[in-house]
Amino acid sequence: MKACLLRSPAPVEKNPLEFTDAFDPKPGKGEVLVRVKMCGVCRTDLHVVEGELPARKSPVIPGHQIVGVVEERGEGARRFATGARVGIPWLHSADLTCEYCRAGMENLCDHPAFTGYTVDGGYAEYVTAPEAFVYPIPEGFRDEHAAPLLCAGIIGFRSLRLSGIKRGGRLAFYGFGSAAHVATQIARHWGVEVYACTRGVKHQQLALELGAVWAGEASAAPPVKLDAAIIFAPAGELVPPALAALKKGGVLVLGGIHMSPIPSFDYDLLYQERVIRSVANNTRQDGEDFLRVAAEIPVRTQTTLFALRDANRALNDLKGDRINGAAVLDCIQ
Ligand SMILES: [Zn+2]
Ligand SMILES: [Zn+2]
Repeated sequence: MKACLLRSPAPVEKNPLEFTDAFDPKPGKGEVLVRVKMCGVCRTDLHVVEGELPARKSPVIPGHQIVGVVEERGEGARRFATGARVGIPWLHSADLTCEYCRAGMENLCDHPAFTGYTVDGGYAEYVTAPEAFVYPIPEGFRDEHAAPLLCAGIIGFRSLRLSGIKRGGRLAFYGFGSAAHVATQIARHWGVEVYACTRGVKHQQLALELGAVWAGEASAAPPVKLDAAIIFAPAGELVPPALAALKKGGVLVLGGIHMSPIPSFDYDLLYQERVIRSVANNTRQDGEDFLRVAAEIPVRTQTTLFALRDANRALNDLKGDRINGAAVLDCIQ
């Protein structure tokens, strides 16, 4: 099969992904082999390709927002029929036996595997995954529009949940890329007032089009105090201004897997029971709940398509803030 291989991490400006022939994967016990149609490009892929996340498999095929069809079923795999449309997310598998898994927190599993990081992902024509960690994709979404739901969407949804935001509440997003453009639609559906703090007029315009009541620069203070804020941008320097924008008791959620160092700040910014918490991965329950809500609303994703062989260009455009909405690779050769 054709795939984009990362042999060793490097800045994306050096185009480190190699579009080449790779071995066809075979589905193991309980696994499905999926013919990849579309694979979303996530900021986490940038962190993998550039080495901010230490290499765990080499070479590795990145990509964890995969939409495709079941081509073949491994031994004992019966959940999906051949030809079924499915999605494969970041959490490739969990051990289901550690204290976290037993407590229903498989997102914090001690022995997880991650798609496109510790195991090969979807910048390829084929990929395998345990059927128990694969989602059926609701009808009504085209493949390219479903792809960004699988990480940006699900992680945005978990971030919203952990923010504790309620109907009538006021919420800000810091950074307005793939995750925020989906999460805004969920928040609006829940009757939440959305503020967007993000660099770039295009991102601010998209936020307003999707129903944000205000959009400004990332460092600008929103005009009202907020119940919650979610930082999707990997920029630690946004933590103090985001805390300063919160009401007493407000919650700041850090939605990314990697963030630059957080500068020190006065305790006053945190005092009055303000909370900072991170989001790590997601449970399958988050994914199922999110896809159901996304289909009900229905969530619309704005996508920019790239050919699989142009994955380096997609990553460069993502890094350079030149993608409005979500970048998606068309993996059909
Ligand atoms: Zn576990
Ligand atoms: Zn992701």
